[in-house]
Parts: sequence; structure tokens; C-alpha cells
Amino acid sequence: MDCIFCKIVAGEIPSARVYEDDEIVIFKDIAPKAKIHLLCVPREHFAHLAEADAGQGEMLGRALLKIASLAPALGLGEGYRLVVNQGESAGQTVPHLHIHILGGERLGWD
Ligand code: AMP
Ligand code: ZN
Repeated sequence: MDCIFCKIVAGEIPSARVYEDDEIVIFKDIAPKAKIHLLCVPREHFAHLAEADAGQGEMLGRALLKIASLAPALGLGEGYRLVVNQGESAGQTVPHLHIHILGGERLGWD
């Protein structure tokens, strides 16, 4: 499959990984929109929450809890923002579901 995040998960494209397990990989966004900008990507390819089955939903729940437990070690102890862009009009450019993790500074909200 011609998916850039599948290739990153498979190690076919380099990335700056900060965490991985059997379900997710977390790596640095190549074009950071905050001082710290990470992407949490399920190993399994699917594009949208609407496609997720119950097992994938549980995996995403575990991913959120993992992000929370890793946050202090990732430099996000003061707070962070999670974003999931869904669809072109929301700004989704990579059709492999991913959670943006933003922080490392005070984030605006306008
Ligand atoms: P989205 O617009 O929500 O689909 O987010 C895609 C994100 O992937 C953007 O923030 C890009 O900067 C990031 N991105 C694209 N290619 C790479 C790459 N090779 N390594 C790391 N991040 C990437
Ligand atoms: Zn993929």
C-alpha cells in the first residue's frame, strides 16, 4: 500500500521515533506546529474513526492512555493537545489515522 505512515511504521522511511509498541508508533512530525509536535500512529492502516471496529476503538483508547503516561517523559508534563484531523476539509493530508500531540509551550486557542 502506498501510504507514507505505513512505510514509516515498517521502517521503510526514516522517522525520529520516540516510542513504539506492538500497536502504535510515536514519532516527531517533520513540520512541527508547536515546540513539541509528535504523531501517534496505529501500526494498522485505517484512515478514519468511522471505519474503526470495536477492537480498533479499544486500541485507540489504549493509545490515549499510553500518551498520557508518556507525557512527562516526552517533555509534555505542563500540558499538551491531542488533535485528530478527519477528512480533507479538516486538514487531513495523510489517510492513515494519526493523533497529533502538541505541546512544549503555551498553546493558543482561537
Ligand atoms: P494531517 O494533516 O492531520 O494528515 O497530518 C499529517 C502530518 O504528517 C503533518 O503534520 C505532516 O507534517 C506530517 N508528516 C508528513 N510526512 C511526514 C514524515 N515523513 N515524517 C513525519 N511527519 C510527516
Ligand atoms: Zn497506512
